[in-house]
Amino acid sequence: MISFEKAVSIVQNSCKKMDIEEVELHQLLGRVLALDVVSDMNMPPFDKSAVDGFACRKSNITEQLEVIEVVPAGKLPREEVGEHQCTKIMTGAMMPKGADCVIMIEDTAQVDCLHIRYKKDTVKNNICLLGEDMKTGQVAISAGVAIQPQHIAVLAALGYTKVAVYQKPRVAILSTGDELVEPSKKPELGQIRNSNGHQLVAQVLRAGCIPNYMGIVEDNERVTFNAIKKAIDENDMLLLTGGVSMGDYDFVPSVLTRCGVDLLFDRVAVQPGKPTTFGKTDSGKMVFGLPGNPVSSFAQFELLVRPALEKMMGEKPKELFKKMRLSTDYHRKHAERLAFVPATISQSGEVTPTEYHGSAHIFSLPNSQGLLAVPLGIYELKKGEEVDVRPI
Ligand code: AMP
Ligand code: MG
Repeated sequence: MISFEKAVSIVQNSCKKMDIEEVELHQLLGRVLALDVVSDMNMPPFDKSAVDGFACRKSNITEQLEVIEVVPAGKLPREEVGEHQCTKIMTGAMMPKGADCVIMIEDTAQVDCLHIRYKKDTVKNNICLLGEDMKTGQVAISAGVAIQPQHIAVLAALGYTKVAVYQKPRVAILSTGDELVEPSKKPELGQIRNSNGHQLVAQVLRAGCIPNYMGIVEDNERVTFNAIKKAIDENDMLLLTGGVSMGDYDFVPSVLTRCGVDLLFDRVAVQPGKPTTFGKTDSGKMVFGLPGNPVSSFAQFELLVRPALEKMMGEKPKELFKKMRLSTDYHRKHAERLAFVPATISQSGEVTPTEYHGSAHIFSLPNSQGLLAVPLGIYELKKGEEVDVRPI
């Protein structure tokens, strides 16, 4: 049995980056940038007015000003502003030569059809200066960022209509177990509905990848072999659930080996999720044998699989845990594994363990926002203590 930290590092070191593809602006949400986005221009591209008003000289604002021109946004000023002159200018239009400020229209009064007067005695520049937001050649967004709507605005502003991103990993999901039926069926006595498979589809989607749901495989070596072989051939990663414990019908590890998977670990000192199994093929495809118990498969996906998918997609490494304060004392009877306990997170960021009966208790998860880490060897955590939490 290896430590959780060792398992994380084995998995992370096994990740192969996906190839790069070009994707159109409207399809980019959630995708990870493969190259730096460099500005092809200064932003703003010229000195522009920040307000609707009159461009003039600061030294003239106490005096009556002659309006010599009107410049709408998108049009260029033709006249240079001289002493006691101004140009009527709209927000976003280019500043005329000779002016060093814009007085806001709401602070002026019309004197006659050609003249205006400023009603205040101080003025801000109200000019957005050339290149003050971004300079030509500057990196606007760096590679490894997962694209959000705010990045789309920057990409659009800089003329990126197609962008190089990492391909989404295609992830096969197979649920093993003779006792399993699909959610559309009422389980007969001894049967149970397949929850893992569908939960994993959603987890893969949330991670920004492509799930390939391949259904339930009976606990039969030949059938399992064929299903695993096909799944590995056609996908970048395979997630199996069940069949990795010590039972008579748990032959996932042996079948994986026969399918050319080099098993790198098959027990982790973590709770839930001790039988978590991991390996990879010569061609770099990764296989996780997740335990059948649903809280285990959920937690080990969030803790081991998701960071691996992020690395495959070229995302910059993120912290696995957030530091939070415990709202109450916590204690446990056994401490030989690092435990992850479903927990709520309050508005103020305090964490409280949820009622949790063990790794089959899926009903504890919808009410939880995080997994509270209880370190190996630790029996008690005290109220107010700083703890590690994996938000879910
Ligand atoms: P196993 O890891 O195959 O020994 O399964 C451990 C426990 O998880 C058993 O109680 C199984 O019935 C249950 N289980 C296995 N696979 C699933 C699944 N896909 N959905 C829900 N429960 C499952
Ligand atoms: Mg089973």
